[in-house]
Amino acid sequence: MPASSAGQHNTENCQICGGQLQYFNSGRELTCVQCGKSEIGNISCPNGHYVCDECHGKGLFDTVKEYMLASQSTNPFEIAEDLMNQDNIPMLGCENAWIASGALMAALKNEGTINVSDEQIVEVLNRTKRQAIGGYCGLTGVCGIAPAMGACFSVILGASCPKDQETATTMKIVGKIVYAIAEQTGPCCCKNFVRTALSKAITSVKERLDVCLLSSSEAIVCTHSSRHPHGCRESKCSYFKSS
Ligand SMILES: [Zn+2]
Ligand SMILES: [Zn+2]
Repeated sequence: MPASSAGQHNTENCQICGGQLQYFNSGRELTCVQCGKSEIGNISCPNGHYVCDECHGKGLFDTVKEYMLASQSTNPFEIAEDLMNQDNIPMLGCENAWIASGALMAALKNEGTINVSDEQIVEVLNRTKRQAIGGYCGLTGVCGIAPAMGACFSVILGASCPKDQETATTMKIVGKIVYAIAEQTGPCCCKNFVRTALSKAITSVKERLDVCLLSSSEAIVCTHSSRHPHGCRESKCSYFKSS
């Protein structure tokens, strides 16, 4: 029963006319109502209103970045949940991918076993932004939260095209993340994917970096269920608790 949450910034419906967003099997030329750019897109409202990915998260990127740089927490779930609970963070969209990678990097920096600089946190967020594109969980099978986790390991390990094990490790971790969130679909839920991806990433952090982030997603009770425009998975989701 998708209910619109009054007073909340709801980008699941058209920001111009409130119409229900449509997802096209074939991309078509669409013009962003905010910046006027024309590009091939797969999501618009019935009246053709389209918001490009750049404009979708405008302003929020800096919000996420500043939050991560100021955080003192060593618990990536605490960081992610706190940000996802902010009114201006949309239910769905790749702002959630920025939160996932930022939360992991901030927690690693604050935990302190490995040196993580503010520059590295910003680098991870910038890389995540390049490959986290709204709707592509369904359009190519690569939810932006997977490259978000990959960006963290790549930056920490120093992976790049010419490298060997650094890149292999990063790719394998991304593969695990894609697999794990694939088990949580029907419909896709960015909130679940953030928690599932962070859970997997924490295991990889222990295995690959020998850093123990003492945090678990088990106690999380999702408060976003009624916001989901495609319907919450409810009993299929381990973070759903009926009230
Ligand atoms: Zn519209
Ligand atoms: Zn735009």
